[in-house]
Amino acid sequence: MVATNSIVGHRGSRDSRDEMDDLPDEDVAKDFYAKYEPKEVLGRGVSSTVRRCIEKETGREFAAKIIDVSADLEDSQGLTLREASLREINILRLVAGHPYIIELHDVFESSTYVFLVFELCKNGELFDYLTSVVALSEKKTKAIMKQLFEGLHYIHSYNVVHRDLKPENILLDNNLNIKISDFGFAKNISPKERLYDLCGTPGYLAPELLRASMYENSDGYGKEVDLWACGVIMYTLLVGFPPFWHRKQMIMLRNIMEGKYEFCSPEWDDITDQPKDLIRKLLVIDPNERITASEALRHHFFQTVRARVGEFNARKTFQLAIMAVRAMIRITRLKLTPEPLSIEILRTNPYRIKTLRKAIDGCAFRVYHHWVKRGEVQNRAALFENRPKVEVKYLYQQSIVNITTT
Ligand code: ADP
Ligand code: MG
Repeated sequence: MVATNSIVGHRGSRDSRDEMDDLPDEDVAKDFYAKYEPKEVLGRGVSSTVRRCIEKETGREFAAKIIDVSADLEDSQGLTLREASLREINILRLVAGHPYIIELHDVFESSTYVFLVFELCKNGELFDYLTSVVALSEKKTKAIMKQLFEGLHYIHSYNVVHRDLKPENILLDNNLNIKISDFGFAKNISPKERLYDLCGTPGYLAPELLRASMYENSDGYGKEVDLWACGVIMYTLLVGFPPFWHRKQMIMLRNIMEGKYEFCSPEWDDITDQPKDLIRKLLVIDPNERITASEALRHHFFQTVRARVGEFNARKTFQLAIMAVRAMIRITRLKLTPEPLSIEILRTNPYRIKTLRKAIDGCAFRVYHHWVKRGEVQNRAALFENRPKVEVKYLYQQSIVNITTT
């Protein structure tokens, strides 16, 4: 999977460069430096850099997003970088206090820089987590999506549209709980207000948002765009690739507008109907027909079946008792249980298996009548290698060649 950049304004690619020389001028940012000690870079945008930092007084770690607002740039809504940063701060304060939304700890402003100090998410982006595991199980996806819908329901209850939901902007804390972050494109709208500007990240853009940017007579868009993005995220989490990706971006955008995606084989073969059904209800072209965050939370994908309390089932109780006793016996015998044998290791490197090693060493002793010297354990293993050494094979072939040519 490839990280994708947001399309508008000052957001951009990030890397893990760690130079300290591009830190803002000491004079300008002295209040920030008096309180925090900046450390390595965690992420980077075109005009912002996120660094781990330590609060000097408490020793607590935070993440500081340092935004360079000196450039005279305007985003698609005609906001300068400074105005856009102030809007981000206002929205972060508005939606503060939810377990799945990033917490803004401190703010510093100067004429050239804005410093946003956030709680630190030690486990980084959901994007990186997904890349490391390739795809998530239904159970893990369920846990993450539930938190995402809960956070989104809260954001939407304040009439805030996020507009840039994607795995890069969903962070993971120490317990792998999510934190919705990067409110750089978020907007506080009145209940009936419609938006028309093009912002977000290509693969996650909703069809009505694309229409709004293309056609004069469009109805604009609203909070529903975030649920479309949730559909794209959920699809991606389950299989490790997005539903609308295409090498040519124009074709991808056309597929989005036509809602053209599929649960392809073999990746989707083993995935049950419940998550597929929820994705179908999220990736609906008509925003009025699309499921809301609170409806998504009531979807049967999230309803866990609980055993009815108080109903006695003699057979089940007996089975459970047997399983409990077996488990206890296994735990007490754990030390004595031999490590499981892998046929592959058995075939290629039998000496790695403890029990076989003992048998091999025993045979060696019987053959040589003495142990191969201590510190030459590798050599002992070499005695039992079942593949000829390359150089020996090479020498052998060479000697054959020499014999035949002489
Ligand atoms: P941008 O608007 O430039 O995309 P973000 O707010 O998304 O800025 O931050 C950029 C990157 O910095 C994130 O994708 C993430 O990798 C890292 N980052 C941001 N905030 C935090 C945080 N609180 N904890 C850890 N990493 C963070
Ligand atoms: Mg971001």
